[in-house]
Amino acid sequence: MKENNDCKTDIKSMTLEELTAEIAALGEKPFRAGQLYQWMHQKLARDYDEMTNLPKLLRETLRAQYGYTALTLVERRVSKLDGTEKYLFGLADGNVIESVLMRYQFGNSVCISSQAGCRMGCRFCASTIGGLTRNLLPSEMLDQIYAIQRLTGERVSHVVVMGTGEPLDNYDYLLRFLKLLTQEKGLHISQRNITVSTCGLTERIRALADEKLQITLALSLHAPSQEKRQKLMPVANKYDLGGVLDACRYYFKQTGRRVTFEYSLVSGENASEEDARMLARLLEGMNCHINLIPVNPVKERSYVQPERREILAFKNVLEKCGKTVTIRREMGRDIAGACGQLRKGYMEQSGQAKL
Ligand code: SAH
Repeated sequence: MKENNDCKTDIKSMTLEELTAEIAALGEKPFRAGQLYQWMHQKLARDYDEMTNLPKLLRETLRAQYGYTALTLVERRVSKLDGTEKYLFGLADGNVIESVLMRYQFGNSVCISSQAGCRMGCRFCASTIGGLTRNLLPSEMLDQIYAIQRLTGERVSHVVVMGTGEPLDNYDYLLRFLKLLTQEKGLHISQRNITVSTCGLTERIRALADEKLQITLALSLHAPSQEKRQKLMPVANKYDLGGVLDACRYYFKQTGRRVTFEYSLVSGENASEEDARMLARLLEGMNCHINLIPVNPVKERSYVQPERREILAFKNVLEKCGKTVTIRREMGRDIAGACGQLRKGYMEQSGQAKL
């Protein structure tokens, strides 16, 4: 794992087993691995210096041999409306990423980025406009949660991988991240409290299904037909809708977890009652949940939200067909626009067209 500048092995992305082997190879006592792991993943240390019960010499050895990721806080915006917080974090190599904290009755949920930028090209999404810069390391995905937990002093109980990036385009690191996040000796977040959202990379959905995790899969559907989907999502040119939905059925078969379909409502594109009827037919017989998201306007694009009554009519059609539907509550409306806009705004301001 050498995605960042300095080309040392990234210690925070190692599993406890791997760390134990490394510590043994250094000639240290095995219990040091447990201590080190706890400092990184439970006490959320930002640096080796904080690890006061490790011998100084060991800390120096570790510093010389392993990279240790930590984020810098670039900007923090707190919503006056609902307590939602948006964060802009800096990575070691100068890239910036966005994360969001949402406070709910059931606990605190953090939305993380999985890549710096994105190469999927969804037409309505601000995160993809500058293309993909690089994958985030497992540790850099964890760091977003760790930094927010440290900064707020509040426990994070839920994680959604729905920020910038396509998580299944960073598949191996995503799996490792999930393993570390749910580790008993780490934050120990329940698999059931984790959602991974994808634009629909069919073979990766199938691979994830075979992992038989208890995480929720959210599929960005956004259209009731292959043709309409292709207009909004270039990824649909490669993966046809039938195949993607088969993969979702397979996910349910393998894991028993109900799939969530995300559907961004775009006026004049996919939001008519006829679209709703087509969508209901498309998902007939599937045990699923539909999450409607009135599209968040992006200044580079001309897409607009349907009127409230159109949104409700769309929902109504689906419900009459027996579907479970929610309209996503807009959180932190006062602190930033659509996904990826904070990062994009920052990059433009600081003269970095592409980080
Ligand atoms: N790449 C993943 C996860 C990141 S996007 C995916 O495609 O699912 C998280 C969700 O927000 C996706 O459903 C995405 O399509 C949606 N989204 C992105 N930009 C949006 C916008 N401007 N308005 C509404 N939803 C948007």
